[in-house]
Amino acid sequence: MVDLKSQYEKIKPEIDAQWEEILDSCAFINGPAVHRFQANLEQYLHVKHVIPCGNGTEAIQVALMALGLQPGDEVITTTFTFIATAEVIALLGLTPVLVDVNPDTFNINVDAVERAITPKTKAVVPVHLFGQCADMERLLQVAEKYHLHVVEDACQALGADYQFSDGHTQKAGTMGIMGCTSFFPSKNLGCYGDGGAIFTNDDQLANKLRGIVNHGMFVRYYHDLVGVNSRLDSLQAAVLDVKLKRLNDYNVARQSAATYYNSQFASCSKLVVPQKGKNTTHIFHQYTLRLQQVDRQKVMEYMAEKQIPCAIYYPVPLHMQKAYTSPRYGAGDFPVSEQLCKEVISLPMHTELDKEQLEYITTNFLAAVEKAAL
Ligand SMILES: *Cc1c(COP(=O)(O)O)cnc(C)c1O
Repeated sequence: MVDLKSQYEKIKPEIDAQWEEILDSCAFINGPAVHRFQANLEQYLHVKHVIPCGNGTEAIQVALMALGLQPGDEVITTTFTFIATAEVIALLGLTPVLVDVNPDTFNINVDAVERAITPKTKAVVPVHLFGQCADMERLLQVAEKYHLHVVEDACQALGADYQFSDGHTQKAGTMGIMGCTSFFPSKNLGCYGDGGAIFTNDDQLANKLRGIVNHGMFVRYYHDLVGVNSRLDSLQAAVLDVKLKRLNDYNVARQSAATYYNSQFASCSKLVVPQKGKNTTHIFHQYTLRLQQVDRQKVMEYMAEKQIPCAIYYPVPLHMQKAYTSPRYGAGDFPVSEQLCKEVISLPMHTELDKEQLEYITTNFLAAVEKAAL
């Protein structure tokens, strides 16, 4: 699905030189590379504070911890996402309240968010799924009306732009009170291990977040809060700094691949190509199609024969996951997400796809779809 090796080959001299320097200095934790990357990411995102941390899951966890919510408080999020989003809500003793998504963008349905609000609702976690922003303008309006915190899960959308109706644009992850991202290797900005970050423009929250990721410690060995140990190490920060300079180019490469896929698939009645929301750019963390009247399992088998990777993001919506069953809802309650889970398929999407590979993938995929038609 990704080709990290070819990408590394192109930036190897820069990465290797930086790693050698860090290995020589042994400044593995909190070294200058971490501070340099943090400052560069703040500039890239036009956000006041970037707080690096251990991974994207912990970024969301720490952000929610900083809000000082009480057990039983409700946090609304989407049922069509990676488990991490709801996992940390549950882990903190909060109640995840899942809602359905829009069938075109796969992003959280803001009307459904509004319907799910109760007096216990304290926050909403929109996910900018597959690389495009949720409907943030409307979501922020609803959040303001009901005094809810908005914590963005921008793990799949680092670098995507959202345009508000007054014309100004903001980067994914910088529109809510806090935003979170992951630097997992396959993400749009990925390191060579685990990493993550939280973004905020709020000085007080930023200070609190920096304390929480460091054992709730503001003065050495004085612990004012219950915190966690969650940090980005210097080796990962160095990789990220090298790749951040290329992030826009990387995202353009993904967009070009998506444009090619779209051009080949648009006329196939059995395929629905990804639809872009109207106020957002799409940076294609995933290229995800919907199959219509096609046996998905057969498509997967045919693609496997041709040694073309493809994947299902995601096969089961969160409300139907064993660990997340709730008397609130069950099968049938979120029909859009349930249908998507049956229909979606994602094709290889990364920065190194060349014309030959794209042709091979599309030709074989179209043949697979025809063979597997119901
Ligand atoms: C990857 C991802 C996460 C978690 O990030 P990790 O760094 O793997 O912990 C959370 N939410 C979404 C939507 C993701 O894609």
